[in-house]
Parts: sequence; C-alpha cells; structure tokens
Amino acid sequence: MPVVPVDGTATPPSADRPLRVAVVGAGPAGIYAADALTRQDAVPVAVDLIDRLPTPFGLVRHGIAPDHPKMRAIRDTLHRTLDDPLVRFVGNVEIGKDISLDELRRHVDAVIYTYGAAIDRHLGIDGEGLPGSLAATELVAWYTGHPDADRARVEAALAGVRDVVVVGVGNVALDVARVLARTPAELESTDMPQHVLDTFAATPVQRITVLGRRGPAQASFTTQELRELDGLEAATVLVDAGDLELAPDAEERAAADRNVARNLTVLRGWVDHVPEPGRTRLHLRFFARPARLLGEERVTGVEVERTAVDGDGRAVGTGELDVLPADLVVRSVGYFGTPLPGLPVDERSGTVPHEAGRVLRDGKTSPGEYVAGWIKRGPSGVVGTNKHDARETVASLLADAADGSLRTEGAVGDLVEELVSRGAEPVLVDDWRAIDAAETALGATRGRARTTLHEREALLAAVRAAVR
Ligand SMILES: Cc1cc2nc3c(=O)[nH]c(=O)nc-3n(C[C@H](O)[C@H](O)[C@H](O)COP(=O)(O)OP(=O)(O)OC[C@H]3O[C@@H](n4cnc5c(N)ncnc54)[C@H](O)[C@@H]3O)c2cc1C
Repeated sequence: MPVVPVDGTATPPSADRPLRVAVVGAGPAGIYAADALTRQDAVPVAVDLIDRLPTPFGLVRHGIAPDHPKMRAIRDTLHRTLDDPLVRFVGNVEIGKDISLDELRRHVDAVIYTYGAAIDRHLGIDGEGLPGSLAATELVAWYTGHPDADRARVEAALAGVRDVVVVGVGNVALDVARVLARTPAELESTDMPQHVLDTFAATPVQRITVLGRRGPAQASFTTQELRELDGLEAATVLVDAGDLELAPDAEERAAADRNVARNLTVLRGWVDHVPEPGRTRLHLRFFARPARLLGEERVTGVEVERTAVDGDGRAVGTGELDVLPADLVVRSVGYFGTPLPGLPVDERSGTVPHEAGRVLRDGKTSPGEYVAGWIKRGPSGVVGTNKHDARETVASLLADAADGSLRTEGAVGDLVEELVSRGAEPVLVDDWRAIDAAETALGATRGRARTTLHEREALLAAVRAAVR
C-alpha cells in the first residue's frame, strides 16, 4: 500500500500498514531502540533488527569478558525484545554489502543506525606493526569467538608468551590483563571456544604490565573492575607507591570524584604487595607511555617514557626512558567508528553527526535517518547507557512520525524476501534459537553452560540442521 498518495499527504501508520523501521546493528543500542519502538502505542511499528553476524547482542557477546558471566547474562533481558512479535531479527545480513543503504531505505520508512564502533585506535609509534603487537579488539574478538577474528594471527602472537605489556587503563585493558592472568581452571567454565582455552592453557604468562600514560586519577577503569584483579587465583597485583603520590590539585580533583577516590583507595592498599614466586606479576604502572616497540622479527620489548601531567591534564614526556621486556603488546586505547558506505561519519570522533539522534547530512537533519549507541556518542559507558541513548533517538523518530515527516515514496517491499532473492541467507529469530541450542549442547559435552561457536559456517550449519 503506498504510504504517500499522489497528492503528497502522508498516510498515517496504521495496524495494517505500520511504520517500518530498520535498525542496523543488533547490539545493545539496536535492541534498546527496537524495545523503545515497540513499547509505545502512539505509532504502530514493525521493526527489522539487522545484524551482519548470524547472532544478536553485539559486544555483549563479543566484548564483555567471558569470565564475567553475570554481566554477559544481560543477553537474557535483551532477548525479550527479540521475542517481541513486532520485532524481526534479521541476522547474517551486512548493510553496505548484502544490500546498500539506499536500497535498504527503499524498503522501510526509517532507519536507525546502531552498528557500533569496531575499529581500534593506534598508538602511532615505531614497531606497532611488528608481530606480537595486537589491538585489544583482535584479542577480544578471538577469545569471545567472533567469526571474523584472525585466529592464526592472534595465536601466533600468543605462542610462548611470558611478558605482556597492555597499553591503556580503561576497563577493556583490565579485562585483557585479567583474562591473560587467569589460570586454566578459572577459565574452564566460561563460554570461550575450546581452542581459546587450549591456547591460554599453553601460554605461560609470567608478567603483565599495564601502562597508563597519565596518573591514577585520570584512569578510566571502574573500581569494581580494578578490585577484581586482587582476587585472581595465581596473580599478584603490584603498584609503585611513587605513582600514587599526586600533586595537590590532582589530589583535590581525585577527592571530588567518587570513582577516582575509590580507585585510589584500592590502589593504595596494594603498594605493600610483593612479587611471589610462581605467581604472575600484574604490575599497574602510571605516568608511563610506550615510546616505541622494540624487536626485529617480532616484539621483544617496549621502550617506556616517564610522563608528567600538565595543567591541561595532558601527558607530557619527561625524556626519562626504560625498557620493559615484552613478547606481546596489546594496545587498548579506544574504539572508533567506521563509515557505512553512504553515511557521513565525523573523521575525528568516529561518530555519525546528529541532533538528538536525527542524522545530519551537510548540517541538516536527514529525514528518516537516526543513530544510537556507540556510533552516535562514541565508545563510552556501560551497556545500560545505550538504553537512555536509544530512547532519545526513538523519541525523535516518533515525533517525526507524528508530524508526518516520515514518508516513504511508494510501496515498500518485504526486506527479507528481497534479501533472499539476492542470494543472501538471513538468520531469523528461530534460526538464532537453533544456534543458541547448538552452543548449549556443545557446552554440555564438557559440563559448561555454553560454548561459543566461532565459525560463521558452524553457526549457519546449526541453522540448516534445525531447518531440515
Ligand atoms: C571489550 C569490551 C568489553 C566490554 N565490557 C563491558 C562490561 O563488562 N559491562 C558493560 O556494561 N559494558 C561493557 N562494554 C561496553 C558495551 O559492550 C557497549 O556499551 C555496547 O555494546 C555498545 O552497544 P552498540 O549497540 O552501540 O554497539 P555494539 O555492541 O558494537 O553492536 C553493534 C552491532 O552492529 C553490527 N554491525 C556492524 N556493522 C554492521 C553492518 N554494516 N550491517 C549490519 N550490522 C552491523 C555488529 O555486528 C554488532 O552486533 C564493553 C565493550 C568492549 C569493547
């Protein structure tokens, strides 16, 4: 049914012809956006929740650390939205590859971009490209069983590793350090693929140094993540007392910020720790930035420069250098959004320009285009932050629908039929349930709640086996 009659007046969305919304990315932001769309009665909607992976949940599946099962269990709450009859999960479909943005837009009245920020930032120092130097994105993708992980590259980097340097002091850096410091027994019950568990079991890490280029007052990790390091079965956390002596203004700022104050209390409680034989040393160093990675064939060390924090809170080099031995360097200095072909992205922030979630093209709002989640506000906040963010975006969309500015030129065909006619193999919610069941069954063979299927073909095979 045409939504815009020839006289140009828009037909309001109705139960027969609901407003069709495509949400691009089934991570938390996309799921929360779908949830906000279906929880209101003012505008009848039908939502296609599209993901390039055959599986939903984005970084809840392929980011949140597998040794944090309680945090990962948020997927059970997110799943309720996938079960909503007004929401159709359409996995295994990449926008920009299986169908272009323009083509997608011809099938729906509005699009919400929630495709995340998956590219890692670089340090921009010599040696960064050496084997043995990885981005946290690569390591995390591998240990969470992301189908696009470069298994050969990560496993070659991990082979025989004893000394690790993690660059960055956010929660992701602590995740990486903690996972590397865990014993095989501590990881045994996780949903990590078996080859990941086997590789970790064969990786005799003895020393992990986490480098923060500024002071502990500027570190972005949360106290809960920090505190957890002290509970590791076979690792001792070490902190230098000198790194915790702050200038009076930094001390004042620290006291005013509860997270920072708590972090400092935890860190100060660790200054008396001493290395213990047979235990991994997990050393948190501040005011230290990597000047270059050393090595010929692969990384052998990191030249570290002592820094000071200037009046603007920036790290400045002091010229004081030392060398840390390292067979593996993992940089965890932030994520960055990439452009979807046909969509503007601000090059500096890696986010889509917007006004209250309405996409801006050349400074003007683009009718029918919205954005939420990391690709809207950058890679910060916890899963729940995306809920408020998605609600703001959906409020803008619904306001536009109410004032008639969301109009489709002519009839919209069914997206899934169109994709199938192009040879794509969309994974719908029942197909995802088959994957879910296959992962649970695989886990049960080793007494675990689940084991992640890490190959796209294995994920699709689970779907095909269930259809037969
Ligand atoms: C390593 C790591 C650990 C984290 N741990 C925690 C934690 O413990 N607790 C916490 O609260 N938060 C944690 N976070 C933060 C949390 O994961 C994010 O806030 C959240 O996932 C961001 O949601 P999003 O939907 O914007 O992006 P994402 O979760 O990245 O979802 C984006 C989705 O879009 C899909 N996509 C991308 N491109 C396309 C395309 N072209 N077509 C179709 N689909 C596409 C992707 O496959 C993905 O599923 C962590 C983040 C990381 C990186």
